[in-house]
Amino acid sequence: MAVPFRKTSKRRKRLRRTHYKLLVPGMTPCPQCGEPKLSHRVCPTCGYYKGRRVAEGK
Ligand SMILES: [Zn+2]
Repeated sequence: MAVPFRKTSKRRKRLRRTHYKLLVPGMTPCPQCGEPKLSHRVCPTCGYYKGRRVAEGK
């Protein structure tokens, strides 16, 4: 099995991981108001779900 020729330095490892978790998983922009919301949930900002108002927004 191929093995890396050089050890990955702390700096290089940390630089690579700066891109991890830039966005909260499961969040999508609401099609109604554009605010980030959890997918498959009623938007807490405008109260819309599937193009219909189902709950009271903020
Ligand atoms: Zn919304």
